[in-house]
Amino acid sequence: MAYITISRSAFFHNLDIIAQRTGSVDKIALVLKDNAYGHGLKTMAKLASEYGITKAVVRSVHEAGMILDYFEHIHVLADIPRMDGPHSEKVCYTINAMEQIARFPKGSRVELKVDTGMHRNGIASERLTAAFEAIKEAGLKLEGVFTHQRSADTLSSEWFWQKKSFEKVKEEAVRLAEKYGLAPLRFHSANSATLFRGSSCDEDLVRIGIAAYGCLKMDETLGQPELKPVLSLWGEKIASRVLLPGQRVGYNGTFSAERELRVSTYDIGYADSLQRVLSDHSRTPEDVGLVGRISMDNSSFVANEDALLIFEDANVIAKAAGTIGYEILVGVRPDLERRLID
Ligand SMILES: *Cc1c(COP(=O)(O)O)cnc(C)c1O
Repeated sequence: MAYITISRSAFFHNLDIIAQRTGSVDKIALVLKDNAYGHGLKTMAKLASEYGITKAVVRSVHEAGMILDYFEHIHVLADIPRMDGPHSEKVCYTINAMEQIARFPKGSRVELKVDTGMHRNGIASERLTAAFEAIKEAGLKLEGVFTHQRSADTLSSEWFWQKKSFEKVKEEAVRLAEKYGLAPLRFHSANSATLFRGSSCDEDLVRIGIAAYGCLKMDETLGQPELKPVLSLWGEKIASRVLLPGQRVGYNGTFSAERELRVSTYDIGYADSLQRVLSDHSRTPEDVGLVGRISMDNSSFVANEDALLIFEDANVIAKAAGTIGYEILVGVRPDLERRLID
């Protein structure tokens, strides 16, 4: 059966580079949403904890519940716990809109997301005072204020503009926290690209996903840290045959052998993140050619080995497929076996 390998040494190498940049492991909040970008939630939580990371970021209450044992602090980006659901002291929730405030159980630990220009989630920065009031009224425990950058990975002035607008929000939030007698707030705005773009890391934590998995891609002029991809996808051979000249492979026979050719079918298809647009024109990291159409659970290669490396750097096939590494990684099936290697 197809499987993936997770390289512990590549992951730790990336975390070393990230920690060097933040100045301390304590500042790293590892983003583990969406099955840890396809790497496997529990596998990566365990490894991160082994490395010494104590903070995680996930999307849902369900994900948080699966990794409680591994972290001291878990930030949920986009979910509201049920009033009668299980609660953990370790979990802190996000307020993404004013209308959500009343829906959080009293006493919930929360952080306020502020829209500093991305116009996706978060309250408008002009409504900060109103949000602080509503949070107090709802009996929630406000611990932090954060935002998200929309174009940190590209060369433009937008990054500076958003950074400036968050500086203003921070000043205002500090003033409001004093007014309402809150403990000092946590502030953060950096994802992977922001961390490697900024010259210093002066905020309380950084929310790091793609860089930890070794697939951060910045505009060339912005420089690129020497990260290593952590996940590799492997297919196992299902069948093998020698094609005669003129014989064709797969749906619609789009590939035709010009000479006698050994072709094998592997158990990886577009259901496993090998996107169908890669049909006919893709090559593996070991320079093996893919031939014919990619099927749902199968694809054919000019190969004969029992296990074939399909990709080791999601950005390479992402480029060929006209997408980004993130999309390739989250498309890796959660039920494939994760083999931990060194
Ligand atoms: C996904 C996400 C991140 C992580 O982004 P990377 O580019 O993978 O580092 C950080 N913050 C928020 C709010 C996110 O949704």
